[in-house]
Order: sequence, then C-alpha cells, then structure tokens
Amino acid sequence: MGERSKSRLRVKRKRFEPPVLCEVCGVRRAERVCPLCGRMVCSSHYDEDRGICSLCAETLCENCGRNLSITQCPVCGSLVCSDCSVQLTPVVRICTRCASKRVSLDDIARKEVVMLAESLRKYLVVAAGR
Ligand SMILES: [Zn+2]
Ligand SMILES: [Zn+2]
Ligand SMILES: [Zn+2]
Ligand SMILES: [Zn+2]
Repeated sequence: MGERSKSRLRVKRKRFEPPVLCEVCGVRRAERVCPLCGRMVCSSHYDEDRGICSLCAETLCENCGRNLSITQCPVCGSLVCSDCSVQLTPVVRICTRCASKRVSLDDIARKEVVMLAESLRKYLVVAAGR
C-alpha cells in the first residue's frame, strides 16, 4: 500500500508540463486518445458511442462503421473502407453494396458525366456572376 503513494509522489515531482490541447479545436484540454488516428482530443471532439475522435467519425466507413474510409463510391457516394469496396478498374473502387447490385461501369460513367455537368454548370453560374 505504501509503495503506491511513494511512486505517485515521484511522478508529481516532475517538471511542470502544459496541458495537452485537443488536436481538433486546439482550445480545450485533450482527455482522450483516438484509437484510430492516435489524435489527442477533448471530450467534445470524442464520439463516446463509437469510441473515436470526431474527425474519424466523419471519415468512417459508412458501411461497416469500423474502419476509416479510403474512397467514396462513385455510384452511391458513400464513404467506404478497403474491406467494404471492390476494385473495379485501377482507378475506380465501388462499395460492396453497389457491387452486389451488379452496377456496371457504364452506370458509373453516366453518374460521373452527370456530376461533371453539374460542377461545370455551377462554375459557369459563378463565372457569369462576376
Ligand atoms: Zn476539441
Ligand atoms: Zn481519430
Ligand atoms: Zn467498411
Ligand atoms: Zn456504392
């Protein structure tokens, strides 16, 4: 019993160290370490339910909710990890849900064309407003 209090005293005698600040907000004191990315975060930037930091929670795979996403499925737009996506071509990965629906490359190409057209339209609107 006496041993414990002795070692605690020794720890307390260390030089003063400033509190570690949350790596997300940089304001509040970090109280948790995210097991996924290793960031030190405050309690408000820690997702208690999932046990990870808020940044990881945002980039978490939307399919399994366990791993960090590595890509966004071009078909449904959900963020998925490597386990939950399949390589279709060297540059295209789609989620396993879309893969199981047998989405073809044509479908993806069509979606991408729509997205490109949309961003082009937005760009033109902005350019015209100037
Ligand atoms: Zn914070
Ligand atoms: Zn994290
Ligand atoms: Zn996943
Ligand atoms: Zn998908």
